[in-house]
Amino acid sequence: MRLQALPFELLKVGHCTHPECVATRGGRWQSVMFPALCGLILHPTRGYILFDTGYSQHFMTATQPFPERLYRWTTPVNLPHEEQLLTQLAARGIRPADISHIVISHMHADHIAGLRDFPKARFIVSRAEYDQARRMSRLGGLLHAFLPPLLPDDMADRLDFVEDAPMRKLPPELSMFDSGFDLFNDGSILALPLPGHSRGQMGVVFKRADHRLVFMAADACWSRQALVENKLPTVFANRIFDHVGNYRRSFTLLREAAAHPEPALILPSHCEQSWKELSNDIK
Ligand SMILES: [Zn+2]
Repeated sequence: MRLQALPFELLKVGHCTHPECVATRGGRWQSVMFPALCGLILHPTRGYILFDTGYSQHFMTATQPFPERLYRWTTPVNLPHEEQLLTQLAARGIRPADISHIVISHMHADHIAGLRDFPKARFIVSRAEYDQARRMSRLGGLLHAFLPPLLPDDMADRLDFVEDAPMRKLPPELSMFDSGFDLFNDGSILALPLPGHSRGQMGVVFKRADHRLVFMAADACWSRQALVENKLPTVFANRIFDHVGNYRRSFTLLREAAAHPEPALILPSHCEQSWKELSNDIK
């Protein structure tokens, strides 16, 4: 199937800091930045679509009480005003109600903290991911980086499940994944299952305006460098994962995608290198 080219921007919506060796095997003790990256895509008929939302003020509020405060202590979050998603959209003349859809890669707080800010958006998420998050207790959720207060009160009425979309063959660069869910039934944006980090994590694939294939890979790996060097996360980072074996399988497929002679542009959600490259080269 031929993908149509879509205007796209990568946005950084805050970051957290963490010792590198806690996230990546063989890393240093030094604290490194993990940006929270999201995608802003302009669809020809659906309008503005977000892939994740990064952090928001709602995250700060939700992590005020104990025990949720532990989340903020273990991964200190920085969200200057100019990096807030609403500020960045306003600078582009985009109002919150202009966002028609938010594709949720997975339900971890650093990906869904802004959902409450978009009153008209429909939420596209994996049913497996949503159901599992909703079943978690307050403490169980916290241990898996999920904070229920971040969900809009009317979320259940605004859901579109990825699994209900038709399946399509993927372009040759991503043939190792076989097929993806055609989110708008027009071949514009395909969702790929990347389970392991969480139960129903999804990445998205589309062509940006210069026809380069983009693969937003969420947290299926921490960085492009980790893929190239085959560096898996540490046992400590694994503690929040849903299934380490599935994580390894998704990671191996991503490594195959990265090794393709004309690879898709793989954008992990917390990859500093990807942010540096694309913030200088907005297409
Ligand atoms: Zn995550």
